[in-house]
Amino acid sequence: MRPTRLVWNALLPELDEQTFYGFIAASKSFKEAGFAHREAFGQVGFGTGGWDTDFPNSILEILRVVYTDADDQHRSIAGGAQRLPEALWNHAPSGLKYWPEGTSLASLHSGSPRGAVDNIRRAENGDLLVRENWGREATYQAVVTTCQSWLLSTRIHTEEALFPAELWTAIERSHYMQSSKTFVMVDRPFWKDIDPETGREVLSMTLTDRLNRATYLLDDGPDKPAVILLSYTWNDDALKWLALSAEERVKLMLHSLQQIYPGVDIASHIVGQPITVSWEADPNFMGAFKANLPGHYRYQQRLFTHFKQEQLPESQRGIFLAGDDVSFTAGWAEGAVTTGLNAVWGVVNHLGGSSAAGNPGPGDLLDELGPISLD
Ligand SMILES: Cc1cc2nc3c(=O)[nH]c(=O)nc-3n(C[C@H](O)[C@H](O)[C@H](O)COP(=O)(O)OP(=O)(O)OC[C@H]3O[C@@H](n4cnc5c(N)ncnc54)[C@H](O)[C@@H]3O)c2cc1C
Repeated sequence: MRPTRLVWNALLPELDEQTFYGFIAASKSFKEAGFAHREAFGQVGFGTGGWDTDFPNSILEILRVVYTDADDQHRSIAGGAQRLPEALWNHAPSGLKYWPEGTSLASLHSGSPRGAVDNIRRAENGDLLVRENWGREATYQAVVTTCQSWLLSTRIHTEEALFPAELWTAIERSHYMQSSKTFVMVDRPFWKDIDPETGREVLSMTLTDRLNRATYLLDDGPDKPAVILLSYTWNDDALKWLALSAEERVKLMLHSLQQIYPGVDIASHIVGQPITVSWEADPNFMGAFKANLPGHYRYQQRLFTHFKQEQLPESQRGIFLAGDDVSFTAGWAEGAVTTGLNAVWGVVNHLGGSSAAGNPGPGDLLDELGPISLD
């Protein structure tokens, strides 16, 4: 076993039940530095916002992000992250073995994805029956679900017998971060104007302990419309916005920024309607992304390793969980992709296939390299 894995595996039982806040409050350096230091640290945090909204989460969640550099070296995708699934959907790989040249996911699905799923159950022939919310249904030998797993018991009627009781417990105990974002379009990136008094740009990316918490400025070059992400919040800070309309949110956010930048009239630059998202209010999400609370390692381990199904009875095989909340680094796309690859291995294995010789897949190495069991 590699030394880092040895260290990590030894930390798991020690830290699984510790909160992030408990961890720093107990640490020698933070104790010596005093409460004000912990408070300031809480407001700075990740590149994308304050640590303090993460304080109730398990310290393991934070150490994982730091250790894997998940919040480092991010790149903006010109045109938006949606381009990635669209490119995969339209990609036509060359040298396909079973389909003619030019086949893509889009062409295999007549150009459009199917509707929202509302029912998953075992069909009489032993396959899995998936029904969409307008009634269309089809059976499949294997199913991969990639939505937030809470949806499997709330918006999708999923046959109870498809998962073991412990897995249902893990699904139900998932803890999602609440999160909100509010955007306004502006006429131009006016924040780059120079304040004659200070010689500095009039507005900059802002972290604050007030309502907005984080304000980001996004532009595509001078003299083009630009966007201000007036506020990006998590947990309690996101809940403060939940009951308010987009307009009410924007008014309060501008008021907050006015205290910080008294000389800048942001409102006069706004064009169009504000756009706001509260993930916990979206029925297709019910929360932004998973963040484990203390004592949740066992649940996460169950979810993550479920793709290897040899220990399960036949009646519970063939349905695979993947995506953000199955990942050990939820909130970061890379972890979600990894669980997708695990599910692919699970499906191939379920259908009787195997990895190429000399190139073992995730299920082949799970016992050796996978997350350890604490029991
Ligand atoms: C506020 C926020 C900030 C983030 N910031 C970052 C970041 O800076 N860097 C980073 O790497 N990652 C970030 N992430 C995480 C990243 O977005 C996720 O890891 C990634 O989107 C997960 O992909 P996924 O396919 O698992 O799930 P999703 O992208 O959530 O896709 C799940 C899909 O399932 C659909 N669905 C729901 N119900 C049904 C149904 N009944 N039938 C059919 N489909 C259904 C949903 O509509 C959704 O489209 C952030 C996430 C959030 C919410």
